[in-house]
Amino acid sequence: MLCKTKYADKTGSHMVPHFLLKRIENIKGKKGRGYELGFTIQESEIKFHFGQSVLPEKLEEVIGEITDKEREENRNPHIVDHIFCSDCEKRLAVVESAYAKTITKTGTEDYESGIISSLGMLFWASIVWRMSINGKSGVILKSDQNEKLRQILDCFLPDKIENLDENGIKENGLMNSMSYKLMRLTELNDEDAKFLLFHPDFYNPLCILIGEFLLCFSLENRYDDLNTKDLFGINKMVNDSSTNTVLGNEVIKPIDRTTSKMFESNVVTRIKKEYHGKAK
Ligand SMILES: [Zn+2]
Repeated sequence: MLCKTKYADKTGSHMVPHFLLKRIENIKGKKGRGYELGFTIQESEIKFHFGQSVLPEKLEEVIGEITDKEREENRNPHIVDHIFCSDCEKRLAVVESAYAKTITKTGTEDYESGIISSLGMLFWASIVWRMSINGKSGVILKSDQNEKLRQILDCFLPDKIENLDENGIKENGLMNSMSYKLMRLTELNDEDAKFLLFHPDFYNPLCILIGEFLLCFSLENRYDDLNTKDLFGINKMVNDSSTNTVLGNEVIKPIDRTTSKMFESNVVTRIKKEYHGKAK
C-alpha cells in the first residue's frame, strides 16, 4: 500500500512504532512491554485495547471492570498483516530507528530532540498515514490526503538513513505545506498508562496522543481547531508551542507533572463519557 508495486508480504506490521508505547528502558531498570491503553472513538461506538502490563487498577479507573469476554477479545488493532511489502516495511523502520534515538533526551523547557525536523516530519507523517489507512483509530483522512501522504512517504522514505534526501524534502511543495507541533509528557511515572488515542474532534490539526507524545499534525499548516475545540485543557500551551516545518531542527515542548495529571484526568473523563454513552 505504500509503493503500490510489490506484493504486501509482511505480517505483523505496526501502524504505531512499538518504542513509543513501551517504557524507556532505563526507568528503574525495567524492560516491560505492553503498557498501552488504546482507544478508538467513533461516532457510534468506542473500542479499546490494552497492553499486557497495564495495571488492573488503571484499567478499572478508566473503563471499569473488564469482563472475561473483553479480555479474550483484547487485540491490538494497530498491528496488521499484508499491508506493506518487505522493502517498504524496512524503509519505515529506517526512519523509526533514527527517531528512536531521540527519546532518551528530554528537557524542562522547549528542547531540540536532536534530529532535523524533515526527518521528524517523515516519521510522524508515516504514523498519521498508517493510522488513517488502517482505519482502526477512529480518524480517517480524506482519500486525497491519504494519497498525498503516501506519495511523499514513498518518495522520501530512504532505504538507508544516509540516503535521506534532505534537500529534496526542503524543496518539495507537499512537504513544505505540512507542519507539526509536538508536546511530551516528560514526567510520566511507571504506573501511568500510555494512552493511544486519535482525537476524534480534530482535523486542523490532527491530534494524536501516543504514549508520552502529543502530536498535532497539519497537512496544510492549519491549527484553527485549537481555538474552538478542547484539547484536554492544554490548548494554550499547544498554541504557544513551536511549529516544526521541514526547515530546522525538531523542537518539543515538555509538559510538567502537574499539567500532565490535569491533562490525563481530562483524557480519562472524555473516554469515560464516550465509553458510558456509547455501545461497545
Ligand atoms: Zn512496498
